[in-house]
Amino acid sequence: MTSARCLSTFDKHREIFEQLGIDKTNNKGVFDGEWKGSGSIMPSINPVNNEVMAEVVTGSTDDLNTALDRVAEAQKIWREMPVPKRGQVLLAMRDALVKNLYPLGKLVALEMGKILPEGVGEVQEYVDILEYALGLSRTLSGALIPSERPGHVMLETWNPLGTVGVISAFNFPVAVYGWNSALALVTGNGVLWKPAPTTPLTSIAVTRLLERTLRDHQLPPALCSLVTGGTEVGAGLAQDKRVNLLSFTGSTNVGRKVGQVVQGRFGKSILELGGNNAIIVMEDCDLDLAARAILFAAVGTAGQRCTTTRRLIVQESIYDTLIERLVKAYAQVKVGDPLDEGVLCGPLHTKDAVGVYEQALDKVRQQGGEILIGGQVLKDGPLSQGNFVAPTLTKVTPDMDIVKNEAFVPILHTMTFKTLDEAIAINNNVAQGLSSSIFTNNPSTIFKWIGPAGSDCGIINVNIPTNGAEIGGAFGGEKETGGGRESGSDSWKQYCRRGTCTINYSGALPLAQGINFG
Ligand code: NAD
Repeated sequence: MTSARCLSTFDKHREIFEQLGIDKTNNKGVFDGEWKGSGSIMPSINPVNNEVMAEVVTGSTDDLNTALDRVAEAQKIWREMPVPKRGQVLLAMRDALVKNLYPLGKLVALEMGKILPEGVGEVQEYVDILEYALGLSRTLSGALIPSERPGHVMLETWNPLGTVGVISAFNFPVAVYGWNSALALVTGNGVLWKPAPTTPLTSIAVTRLLERTLRDHQLPPALCSLVTGGTEVGAGLAQDKRVNLLSFTGSTNVGRKVGQVVQGRFGKSILELGGNNAIIVMEDCDLDLAARAILFAAVGTAGQRCTTTRRLIVQESIYDTLIERLVKAYAQVKVGDPLDEGVLCGPLHTKDAVGVYEQALDKVRQQGGEILIGGQVLKDGPLSQGNFVAPTLTKVTPDMDIVKNEAFVPILHTMTFKTLDEAIAINNNVAQGLSSSIFTNNPSTIFKWIGPAGSDCGIINVNIPTNGAEIGGAFGGEKETGGGRESGSDSWKQYCRRGTCTINYSGALPLAQGINFG
């Protein structure tokens, strides 16, 4: 890399980088108690202009090997700490994030390309889950189960698994790690993180904050280890028996392979994979509310959320009215630099994603669909150096192949239906099962939608968009979305080894099921 190539972005935002401990070159991408890296040098690229912002020396499989030993050693100390005391350490991690909310959010915007409020919001999500984990540190509890034998007690224990590996996707470079790490830590595990290869700076900045907090508490900082890198490091984590639970967030194609490898060694996995999310709009709904929600759900994060709305299923009688409103709204969406005020849609994360956008549009045309608005890569003026595309609405039919796959870009396919049953069938007739929503004011429609003959997704919303989940609920999806659940509710149990303990205090030996064994 020539320093000139990275001068402008780095120098323009030098203050942020320095506050977060990021250099222009020579950033070490591995942390296992000390900062190092023996892998290849990887650039971090600004999607606004495709300039190199900084360079990272990534990790190798040798680095991974050492880090896995270090995290296991650290976990032996951590697991002995009473859970409410662990909670206090998580509280200090939360405070460190709060102090750095803005710079970290800005780094997310710079490196991933989402708009600044969404970058800051993503760090806030990590803050929220740490608060949630702090609450858990006082409430984690197991069941006391009635025993059928006299003088016996049955109870459940929830102990840590050991090491939790976290492989994360580019689009939530902070929050996905935050969700996993907060729950893994409160339940007594060590964590080893392999972030997306294109967001290494964010992972280094987060790990530095955690390192400082752990050192302040005289805890081994290898408890939150980091190995940046690509497929080789990810595959190494999937194969390694020292990784007791692997939480993988990414595409269905990669997740399918990772899941099989982990299952092959009888490891545990949480799979959070691709979505193909739909909103159903009923004629009895509040159309204003629906239109605003659809815009946020389809255009927000430039269509790069796993929960982005990709299919809009509209009752025939209101289709024209709703589409007219949406076309007007789409025409007003400001696409541009994610740090600029008023911009709603930033760039796609990589140049390759622009290719995905173009291919998806070609397929719409080939399969007989129509482009209602958008449909171009923005190649003129100040946006010409970046990965900018116009948010797009299409008109298709539900049987077209194009609506069956997730293209991770801001294209929303619209289609019509006549009856609720037909709409639910369309919603469910894809391989993925992450998020879904219906707009209606009819209670019986709502209860059908959330019941056994309703949406087959993990997230089933009413009168809100498909995206923007709160951390209090369990997050994840069915079918080819992988079946994993993270974040709230009882997701913490997945980070634990469940023990069923029967304690005999009777002095006799009555057997279960009344068996008399001589
Ligand atoms: P990706 O599958 O390309 O990469 C995800 C991670 O897997 C990266 O860290 C990558 O380096 C790693 N990886 C690649 N090959 C590997 C291998 N053989 N073994 C182990 N790890 C490997 O995904 P992406 O492009 O970064 O992210 C976008 C995808 O993630 C979309 O499909 C999106 O829907 C999905 N996603 C899902 C959720 C969810 O919660 N369901 C959340 C965010 C993103």
